[in-house]
Amino acid sequence: MQNSSKAYLLQNKTIGFVPTMGALHEGHLSLVRRAKEENDITIVSIFVNPIQFGPSEDFEKYPRDMDGDTEKLQEETVDVIFMPEIFSMYPAKSLTYVEVDEISDRLCGAFRPGHFRGVATVVTKLLNIVKPTRVYFGQKDFQQSVIIKQLVTDLNIDVDVIVCPTIREPDGLAMSSRNTYLTKEQRKAATVIYQCLKEASGLIESGIIDGTYIKDCMRERILKVPDISHVEYAGAYDPETMVAVSEIKGDILLAVALRIGNTRLIDNMLVTMVK
Ligand code: AMP
Repeated sequence: MQNSSKAYLLQNKTIGFVPTMGALHEGHLSLVRRAKEENDITIVSIFVNPIQFGPSEDFEKYPRDMDGDTEKLQEETVDVIFMPEIFSMYPAKSLTYVEVDEISDRLCGAFRPGHFRGVATVVTKLLNIVKPTRVYFGQKDFQQSVIIKQLVTDLNIDVDVIVCPTIREPDGLAMSSRNTYLTKEQRKAATVIYQCLKEASGLIESGIIDGTYIKDCMRERILKVPDISHVEYAGAYDPETMVAVSEIKGDILLAVALRIGNTRLIDNMLVTMVK
């Protein structure tokens, strides 16, 4: 992969890179299409990264569909599908990790210790291997995109980080490889996530500036749905620091993480309070 990328760069070609864990859906493909529009060469990686999963998380059962993914990417006519093996990404003696302080410990990081260390490490490695001009992430994983931007700046990696909008099902549920875990009833219950984000955004639009009130409304709305087993977080946050805000002003990240049965789902929405 490194040699192919070097050859593309020597020919003065721009490289657009979309890192994924596979089980591709329209959300992933929207990033691929954007990369294709903006670059000469498009490279998509598929790698279920073991070091970003906790010991009791779903690494083993994470959906894998190499044949289906390959077919979808061939239809999009991407130039390279990069599917490294675990042993080549993490040879036995691999001792170096990338940690982005502070923002990695909040929101998802508070509930998934070590998760963002795993993400930051694999993305740094993939950027060094693929050497892209531009790398594409989805807003669906907003905190991840903020962490990547920070590490790219801090480690002087020469790449543009581009964040693309969240692609949703017709009823608003953000597309996710993990949606396949949901039963029919759970899938229906999951629609509360987007509804609650929209309602919170409506409250802010109507002039409510009390962050704690917004948080309480979001939690209450979610917990009305019997299938929701647990809300990890829900509320209004500073989109740069991921800290909960008590007073709504400027740009605000509304974000939710919850569990339906054993399935963990996240979603978010950016809103701006103009006053
Ligand atoms: P994953 O395979 O879940 O690691 O996701 C790979 C990339 O696709 C990440 O940058 C995600 O943020 C992005 N992505 C996942 N779901 C969506 C979605 N529904 N809309 C837009 N981007 C997404």
